Amino acid sequence: MESNMHTEKPVVLGVDVGATKILVGYVESDGIVPLSRRYAIDRSSRVSTIASIETAITDFLEIPWSMYPPLAIGVGLPGLIDATTGTWAQATNLPITSPVNLAAQLKENFKLPVALDNDVHAATLAELHLGAGRKTRDFIYLNVGTGISTGIVFNGQLVRGANNCAGEFGHTSVDMNGVACECGGHGCLEPIASGGGILAQVRALLPEYPTSCLGKLFKLDQLTASLVFYAANNGDLLGIEVSERAVRTLGFALINLIILLNPSLIICGGGVMADGWMIRQLDNYIAAHALPFVYHSLQGIVLSELKADQVGLLGASILAWKSIGKT
Ligand SMILES: [Zn+2]
Repeated sequence: MESNMHTEKPVVLGVDVGATKILVGYVESDGIVPLSRRYAIDRSSRVSTIASIETAITDFLEIPWSMYPPLAIGVGLPGLIDATTGTWAQATNLPITSPVNLAAQLKENFKLPVALDNDVHAATLAELHLGAGRKTRDFIYLNVGTGISTGIVFNGQLVRGANNCAGEFGHTSVDMNGVACECGGHGCLEPIASGGGILAQVRALLPEYPTSCLGKLFKLDQLTASLVFYAANNGDLLGIEVSERAVRTLGFALINLIILLNPSLIICGGGVMADGWMIRQLDNYIAAHALPFVYHSLQGIVLSELKADQVGLLGASILAWKSIGKT
């Protein structure tokens, strides 16, 4: 039995809450995930959403586990989080309409230290401690999926801003005459270059391109940003119009960010980045348009080395390790 002790590693409990699912898992300090399970989320109300998180953790902890019990719980959540108090203040894709001190509630229920943060900040910490961000002290984590968000690491520290909102890159303005955005602003980046924005533009322009191959895919509800890029590569005019606009606009916004922050690396995540096409286009765009001395200090724009379906869980685990002073 003594020899086993050397192979058993302490774990924390990571909880990655998304708009449609909750992923719960044990995570070792080196990012190994020995056990994880996915749970549904009942998003019909604020109460049911919070109850879904508690039920998922309760169920997971009941799975027979002969190793060390978890030392702490870390939770990554969408929306506005006060990481200091552990309060989930609001979310747009889940019905959190008034603040809940989720950290206090989970701590009371599970008798463990609990830390909360925004999911993109958590993913950025995963990159900093377990991913490509280990090699640098100044990087930007750029997530382009349904929406667009960034995590900024400067001098080895996550930049949070005055109320933990730093990095809402998708709502920076790229067109002073642009259309209204869901956020209340005008001319935002997200409706043009996010996965959701790309699909919305295809839908809006379909009547002008009746022969586009994207029409049939859209009707079958099979269309993804990746297929829009694929169609563009194969000469589909609608695909070319929408994807080139997304590249130009995201590239334009990214150059501003690079000139302001002078990062040495941009680490990309999210479904729109996953096939590498957008990354190659952005690299070309930035090389052609950025100030040379800023571009030359940029070592690369790279795809995350972490597994896409684990980065949120790993980020949540870093929150937990930090809460007990182990990172
Ligand atoms: Zn906006």
